Amino acid sequence: MRGEAERAPRRVTIFGSTGSIGVSTVDLIAREPERFKVVALTGGRNVGLLAEQAVALGAAHAVTCWPECLAELRERLAGTGITSAAGPEAVEEAATRPADWIMSAIVGAAGLAPGLRALEQGTTLALANKESLVTAGPLLMGTAARHGARVLPVDSEHSAIFQGLAGESSSDVERIVITASGGAFRDWPLESLAAATPEEASTHPNWAMGQRITVDSASMFNKALEVIETKEFFGIDPARIEVVVHPESLVHALVGFRDGALMAHVGPPDMRHAIGYALNWPERRHLPVARLDLAQIATLTFRAPCETRWPALRLAREVMQTGGLAGAAFNAAKEAALDHFLDRAIRFTDMGPVVERVLERMDAENALKTDGLSLDAVRQADHLARARAAEAAADLATTA
Ligand code: NDP
Repeated sequence: MRGEAERAPRRVTIFGSTGSIGVSTVDLIAREPERFKVVALTGGRNVGLLAEQAVALGAAHAVTCWPECLAELRERLAGTGITSAAGPEAVEEAATRPADWIMSAIVGAAGLAPGLRALEQGTTLALANKESLVTAGPLLMGTAARHGARVLPVDSEHSAIFQGLAGESSSDVERIVITASGGAFRDWPLESLAAATPEEASTHPNWAMGQRITVDSASMFNKALEVIETKEFFGIDPARIEVVVHPESLVHALVGFRDGALMAHVGPPDMRHAIGYALNWPERRHLPVARLDLAQIATLTFRAPCETRWPALRLAREVMQTGGLAGAAFNAAKEAALDHFLDRAIRFTDMGPVVERVLERMDAENALKTDGLSLDAVRQADHLARARAAEAAADLATTA
């Protein structure tokens, strides 16, 4: 048997390496350079960081999703021998380069197509991009099954559930409880929420994350996506999925079994745990995350979420009931509503109504049904939902 030192390095690719999850993934890989061979890195506008990461990790290839950023990327990589490319097709091409493990950490629906390409190669996909499962869960998991590829969860709640289910029989699972910090406005008076600014919504009380997911935490759309993600990833009946507000963000999820046992996953709010777990799976290795001092923490608190404050949770349940293209429409409408809020075109409290109107209208137009969930059908529903969201946002802006 070969010792660890003799094992061939694992070939890894990171989609979205310049983002919050991407940077943490790079951090873990850079700590053990002898264990990994970096095939490709992809990013967006931050080509300075992308080039820096590619050089530091000795990556073979670097891709920006924006063609207008290619010249700068090429300039920064000149003389390094690292090849480069640009555009969504180039991101998908990077997914087809032989690798053992790919991190899917692009933000938004743009993460779906590269993830599918990776799974078609049989590559293990570490999935941070929850939008892939929300928009096209059956397509993603079906592609993985057809190609014998494994999907590993990276969202902290789903990593916690995955760890809680290890060695257990799914027929023994009675319920799954996922926790929510409540985001920036969990204690604001309801009547103040309409005046909340993008800057206020972009500050998370516990986690350091990308701006979009931080605002989605304040609106609870992030948790709504995670409820759908739980259903799609673990095949759990939505009626068995609960959300509880846990302001300390130390318990990430709990799995309840039919004998009444409730197994909790507890850890500091540091995504390097979930990323490292997926990177090392099925092994556990030392990770540079803080160890909790429970006596010092002393108290953990939990409370039921208020659906008046966070209508996104109710919408998620309706989406799961509708099925078909409802997840794609929900995610796209949510992304568009978030853009309109960040552009100050609508208020924080308008995001829920925008998404609800889009779902109602597309349902009335029979646009949420599909005979088979294909990438084309998902893209069409995404496109229509964004157009409908623009109309709903304009309507709400004029009546506000
Ligand atoms: P960030 O916004 O920090 O990073 C997103 C990454 O995707 C960046 O590398 C960005 O490039 C790139 N990117 C942006 N738009 C596109 C596009 N159209 N096509 C290809 N690449 C693009 O996001 P996060 O790291 O916060 O989140 C990434 C994913 O992980 C999301 O799905 C999120 O929900 C999920 N997640 C994040 C957590 C967190 O703690 N941050 C926790 C759990 C899940 P550039 O910045 O160079 O423009």
